[in-house]
Amino acid sequence: MADISNIRQLVSVARSRILLICPDCGQEHAEFADRLRGARYFSCVGDGCDYHFDLLAGPRNSFVQRLGRAWRKLFAAFIPEN
Ligand SMILES: [Zn+2]
Repeated sequence: MADISNIRQLVSVARSRILLICPDCGQEHAEFADRLRGARYFSCVGDGCDYHFDLLAGPRNSFVQRLGRAWRKLFAAFIPEN
């Protein structure tokens, strides 16, 4: 299970990549936050999987808050830029 406090700390890091882990098939997707910002959802490309990460779930406040909700809901982790 991801350490939520670590994720919160990393939310402030700009231009980072986000690791989305599909709850259905376990496929991992590393996407840049900037790219996800303009997307309404992100489609899993796992074999025979048509899961969609709903990036607009929850109140439409800030982008970070939306993603924070998505992370908790979808069990994803954050990858700092190297
Ligand atoms: Zn999947």
